[in-house]
Amino acid sequence: MTERLWAPWRLEYIKSADEEPGCVFCRALAGDDEESLVVHRGDVAFVLLNKFPYTSGHLMVAPVRHVGEYGELEDDEVLAIHRLARAGIGVLSQLYGPQGYNLGWNLGRIAGAGVVDHVHLHVVPRWAGDTNFMPVLADVKVVPEHLAETRRRLAEAWPR
Ligand SMILES: [Zn+2]
Repeated sequence: MTERLWAPWRLEYIKSADEEPGCVFCRALAGDDEESLVVHRGDVAFVLLNKFPYTSGHLMVAPVRHVGEYGELEDDEVLAIHRLARAGIGVLSQLYGPQGYNLGWNLGRIAGAGVVDHVHLHVVPRWAGDTNFMPVLADVKVVPEHLAETRRRLAEAWPR
């Protein structure tokens, strides 16, 4: 996935991931939905948009608990995370109609994880030709507006 998609703004993210204080997921949980791009909050897991997406609508599902080892997830957390991924795919399909998805866990920096101490599941919508389409969004001024609008639409369409 990382080799096939051209997402130059991710380089900035990977460079800055070690420099920001605290955990981006815990900060998002503590923060405002719109500012943190939180789409949905559950009891033990939550959904947010990736600020540095591989494609439009790139979601991340994470446990509420700050846990860095996949093997340390509780059964209810595993179930909640995958239920939210399923719901996310439903909402993305309804709103944006992607042609496929990549779902993935990047565990450890060597496996491509930008954040290694709070596990998260990536839900990446895919379209034919998206590797050509995405550089249009690489403009740093365009991406935040696009993300805010995408977050709003997904949050409003999320099943109650
Ligand atoms: Zn955390």
